[in-house]
Amino acid sequence: MQLTDLNSAGGIGANCLFLEWNGLNIVIDSGLNPKKDGLDALPAFDCLEGKRVDLILVTHCHLDHIGALPVLVRRHPEARVIMSLPSHVLAARMLHNSCNIMMRLRGERGIADYPLYTHREVTHLHKKISAILYYRTCRIEHGPHDLEVTMNPVGHVPGAAGFRLNYQGISVYITGDCLFTPQRILDSGTKIEGTCDILITETTRGATERVPTSDRESEVTRLLAGIGEVMGAGGSVLIPAFAFGRMQEILSIVHDGWKRGILSPCPVYGSGLGISLADYFDEITRKLGGLNFRKSILRELKLRALPEDFNPTGGMHNGRNGQVPALYVLSSGMMVENTPSYAAAAALLANPRNAVFFVGYCDPDTPGGRLLRTAPGEPFLFEELDHTTTLDASVVRFDLSSHADREELLHQAEALQPQAIVLTHGDTEARGWFASQLSGSLPDARVIDPQPLAPVSLL
Ligand SMILES: [Zn+2]
Ligand SMILES: [Zn+2]
Repeated sequence: MQLTDLNSAGGIGANCLFLEWNGLNIVIDSGLNPKKDGLDALPAFDCLEGKRVDLILVTHCHLDHIGALPVLVRRHPEARVIMSLPSHVLAARMLHNSCNIMMRLRGERGIADYPLYTHREVTHLHKKISAILYYRTCRIEHGPHDLEVTMNPVGHVPGAAGFRLNYQGISVYITGDCLFTPQRILDSGTKIEGTCDILITETTRGATERVPTSDRESEVTRLLAGIGEVMGAGGSVLIPAFAFGRMQEILSIVHDGWKRGILSPCPVYGSGLGISLADYFDEITRKLGGLNFRKSILRELKLRALPEDFNPTGGMHNGRNGQVPALYVLSSGMMVENTPSYAAAAALLANPRNAVFFVGYCDPDTPGGRLLRTAPGEPFLFEELDHTTTLDASVVRFDLSSHADREELLHQAEALQPQAIVLTHGDTEARGWFASQLSGSLPDARVIDPQPLAPVSLL
């Protein structure tokens, strides 16, 4: 059995693994690298040239896992695509949105490769997907043998799945991105029973030590108190949030704060995709379960969409000349250029009454990561807008990660007793922590940190 990591940049990027297993060829995820543009954002699909792809498994609908799927399916129409039922509900919406963004960037920044796929291809792909219920083992015929595929819900975002594969007496478990504590809107991820031969595990928080005094509920309380304090003093709060999952989670927390009288009602702004996903979340909540988000929340919050023509340098929206304080829950979570949260930050940072609250992971190379390293009073450059402002607003971080603590993933690995463990979805330091811990606690297991594009033998 051989594995090739097609994420050429390493770290967390265009997630895509190629597994060659006794004549059965499986691709796990097909993501876009959020830090690259054009064809450079794709996984190294050329490594699959001349090979047959039997199966594509998609763990969840974050674009770093699904964003390149239409390209892979165009190149390998023979492949069967499998994902969970909720992911199937969400996949087309996420990919159509990705298509829209690529078309916009083609116009605005002249990226000639964009769009990497068309709306038509997304529609075609959507019809081709096999959606499977959690815990329902699906048999896939392959020559004289069957492959058994079983998914379990792993928290993180709606639809996220871990995959257990059994083929010719060997079992593989793929964790996907997972979270083992419940969120407001999503049930906790589950762990599988028994053991496996090969474990492919995410390692996102490998470099993050757990703070013993903090838990999710106390962070939620701190977040609500922080919003109340800033707004009570006449400031605005910006919460950069991923449109898929995180924005709805934060809105749900705010809604609950209003209902319980912890937070006074205030104007609340959201942005594009996060608002339209509310319909899909509502549908999953009603029909499939595991999720608890009703779109009526948006109505009760009187949620407004940030205007398309929002001018961040025009001093509106509680810039220095002070408008009504508001709460902005806007994508992207890392304040990437050309997004609503980036534009809102440009308008808000110069006012000491305002605050930016980060509630998720920020890559150090993104504007969000840069802002977290900027000291109060220092200048902050919004390169895309050609605008520099001093950082007078407060910047606070809340630990509401949608990824499992490293200790939980380590315990899961120990319980599964695999012969080989493949480390994925983490930066060098994060993978390093897992490698050193696992060599101590599972001394007989091989720990593999695959080098991009270099096939490595697993068994
Ligand atoms: Zn994810
Ligand atoms: Zn991910």
